[in-house]
Amino acid sequence: MNALAATNRNFKLASRLLGLDAKLEKSLLIPFREIKVECTIPKDDGTLASFIGFRVQHDNSRGPMKGGIRYHPEVDPDEVNALAQLMTWKTAVANIPYGGAKGGIGCNPSDLSASELERLTRVFTQRIHDLIGIHTDVPAPDMGTNSQTMAWILDEYSKFHGHSPAVVTGKPIDLGGSLGRDAATGRGVLFATEALLNEYGKTVSGQRFVIQGFGNVGSWAARLISELGGKVVAVSDITGAIKNKNGLDIDSLLKHVQENRGVKGFHDADAIDTNSILVEDCDVLIPAALGGVINRDNANEIKAKFIVEAANHPTDPEADEILKKKGVVILPDIYANSGGVTVSYFEWVQNIQGFMWEEERVNNELKTYMTKGLKNVKEMCNTHNCDLRMGAFTLGLNRVARATVLRGWEA
Ligand code: GLU
Repeated sequence: MNALAATNRNFKLASRLLGLDAKLEKSLLIPFREIKVECTIPKDDGTLASFIGFRVQHDNSRGPMKGGIRYHPEVDPDEVNALAQLMTWKTAVANIPYGGAKGGIGCNPSDLSASELERLTRVFTQRIHDLIGIHTDVPAPDMGTNSQTMAWILDEYSKFHGHSPAVVTGKPIDLGGSLGRDAATGRGVLFATEALLNEYGKTVSGQRFVIQGFGNVGSWAARLISELGGKVVAVSDITGAIKNKNGLDIDSLLKHVQENRGVKGFHDADAIDTNSILVEDCDVLIPAALGGVINRDNANEIKAKFIVEAANHPTDPEADEILKKKGVVILPDIYANSGGVTVSYFEWVQNIQGFMWEEERVNNELKTYMTKGLKNVKEMCNTHNCDLRMGAFTLGLNRVARATVLRGWEA
């Protein structure tokens, strides 16, 4: 199922559980604004290259719209729409004062030089600068972008509007970024996993984890899980997949990845088929890469008892049904990976206050938000007698619906 169809399906199921009015449902579903821009840049060799950039601003009833900018060949309008909508529910589940948005450029960042990426980012910013802003829409990194990308957006935006550090989050620390933001999504995944396992009388230590994706989120999650005594038995990235049933040494794997630009060839592990990573034997499976990877083709083969969705929409609705029947517990994306946007919120608050927090404060506040998040999700599960995905969706939808109704529609 395509990303938007899958997201809309979950939205509709939650809306039905809440008994939302049909007109309110429609107004919550349709994005506030969809932006599509053409970005042409001169390449280093003097030829021209054109790219399409998107920013979908889904909802702003609870505050400025918030969400990452993705550079990936598969970026398309439906995908960006789905991700923008998920941000609306995610910020509401985290209970931070934001709406939802997402952006992206259809490109392969590894085919572009640093100066080409800089030119592309600056042209994209020129196209959207009057539609983003500290109190309207605040971008952040996502797949294929990082703190350097945010620095370029900040610099380009500031040429039009004056120095505005709070217009993007996930910035370099030297430009007003927050301590702890780089690790935040992975750390949030750890706190979410810990909170879930505790519900079942288990702890991270002693559990076996498989992580699909070893980028920012997957590698931080792996590092923090192994620090707590969890055994990461298999990981994968675009270069390949590796396994060591006694647990991978994450510190030396991180060194290997830095030197070899991927997990492939790591000395202390066996190479396995990349496609089989999701069905490897483990207790907790953490998809931390692309969407739609858990689907009807592999759901039946999954051996994990818990799935923690570090990626956005990794599980197709058909797979959701199959896994539910198998008794697999899924911690949904809009809660499980909300650590990134939560620390983005802390960064924005620090920029607005002109004050910098210690990293310990950032991490402690994050833990408080993640723990409260699961508690609130579980309350909705009890009220509506539903699984964790519907618990999170009803929690998010209900908060956004209440804000929308309170603000009214009078023109
Ligand atoms: N791109 C991240 C996400 O999908 C972070 C968004 C943000 O910090 O605004 O949640």
